[in-house]
Amino acid sequence: MAKQIANISINTERIWSQLMELAEIGKQESGGVTRTSLSPEDLTARKLLMNWMQETDLEVRVDEAGNIIGRLPRTDESITESVMTGSHIDSVLNGGKFDGPLGVLGALEAVRTIQENGIKLKRSIEVISFTDEEGARFSAGFTGSKGMCGLFGRHHLDEMVDQDGITYSQAFLQAGLNPDNYENAKREPGSIKAFVEIHIEQGKVLENGDLSVGIVTGIAGPMWLEVTI
Ligand SMILES: [Zn+2]
Repeated sequence: MAKQIANISINTERIWSQLMELAEIGKQESGGVTRTSLSPEDLTARKLLMNWMQETDLEVRVDEAGNIIGRLPRTDESITESVMTGSHIDSVLNGGKFDGPLGVLGALEAVRTIQENGIKLKRSIEVISFTDEEGARFSAGFTGSKGMCGLFGRHHLDEMVDQDGITYSQAFLQAGLNPDNYENAKREPGSIKAFVEIHIEQGKVLENGDLSVGIVTGIAGPMWLEVTI
């Protein structure tokens, strides 16, 4: 039976202040946030996130697909599968403050709470921020997670172009990342036991029901099509 851990709460002021600090990067007059992937704003936000992960004493790395990963090491070396949790910090044009950041900073806050309470976990936890989740700049999206799943190849990075004619490969290089190594980000299916993501509600089910949280049973699967008639 699992050991019960009573009366542990996160530091709500800390997570709120970090959400607000992150929302300052790319803040628009309308109140929204524009932080498209690998833009100067995104790169600034990525640095800030990595600092916060380092302050939390996580093992921080950027994988070959540009995903930022902060790992809380396991205590049982025989358990190789980790639990992964996170989201993204890039945004669409004039996006919301919480779409993505809540999942990343919520995961970070959970890990900090685990540490502060001296809880040792047998399995490692990886807090992740996926690169180019939204796809607003290069009209694709999930470029970081597709790299991790082996669903995208090196050539795709040259085919993705933003409105200024900059390819994903070029933007990746400018960010100090090497597109030639992109395919090495692929993880073996057995290396991740479970993935958990907190996300701001995108419909009105919770709002209409005056509920603070819910568990999704399905999600919209966006697809980009180019049709010639
Ligand atoms: Zn999102």
